[in-house]
Amino acid sequence: MAAQTRGFCKYCGKEYTKAGMAKHLTACKERKSILAAAKGKDGCYELMVYGKYNSDYWLIVQIKDTATLKDLDKFIRDIWVECCGHLSAFDISGQLYESMPSADSFWGEPPKSMVCKLKNVLSVGMLLGYEYDYGSTTELSIKVLDHMDNVSQKDKVVILSRNNPPDIVCSVCGKNPAEWVDPTHIYDENAFWCEACMEAGARKDLEEDMAAHEGDEFVEFEFEIPEYFLPVCNSPRMGVCGYEGSNRYPDQFVPDKK
Ligand SMILES: [Zn+2]
Ligand SMILES: [Zn+2]
Ligand SMILES: [Zn+2]
Repeated sequence: MAAQTRGFCKYCGKEYTKAGMAKHLTACKERKSILAAAKGKDGCYELMVYGKYNSDYWLIVQIKDTATLKDLDKFIRDIWVECCGHLSAFDISGQLYESMPSADSFWGEPPKSMVCKLKNVLSVGMLLGYEYDYGSTTELSIKVLDHMDNVSQKDKVVILSRNNPPDIVCSVCGKNPAEWVDPTHIYDENAFWCEACMEAGARKDLEEDMAAHEGDEFVEFEFEIPEYFLPVCNSPRMGVCGYEGSNRYPDQFVPDKK
């Protein structure tokens, strides 16, 4: 089994695995002194967000309890999933909260709106589900780790830690870092390509093509990345639909102190 991904603590820069970080954040001295020095009126939840089927991708965030599910949805879209404006939903104890709630449902309670404050729906210890895109779905789990009072927090959401980008190597040469993912192979072993192997593969195809059409006019070799290839990125939605990574957040989380 591959080693678990690790990430840096925002406050002290130390590196831990997902579970190690959750534990560390309750004890981090730098964090404690910063929280003690700037007491305020905000209540905040600490949430752990991770891929339901690939927990190598994880985030630990501190979010105001007056923020709404919509705010959390926006943050998740911005950092991890937004490709073409698909629908999304939270599942909180069986109740759905949708980005565009439909009036009727086939069974059970009709979905509610995401315009709903976290403090009215969350409690410590809860595990919620999140789905983005009901077609090629990205499923996340969200654990409510903690709640704190008397915090001073300017932004609605603050990232406390995030997994460093996993090391993904090219499936062809097994050597170079992968730069591209072939979405038609996302669920098998051959999904990842470095640029050198992709160009070599394209060259070979062209040479075979030319050998088959001997006597035809010479075609100048011009290498282009196939349009349907997607960039490797630090997200559980990598290689799905048209997902090309976040415009707002770099793949590598940079702590305040290194
Ligand atoms: Zn720390
Ligand atoms: Zn899409
Ligand atoms: Zn390669």
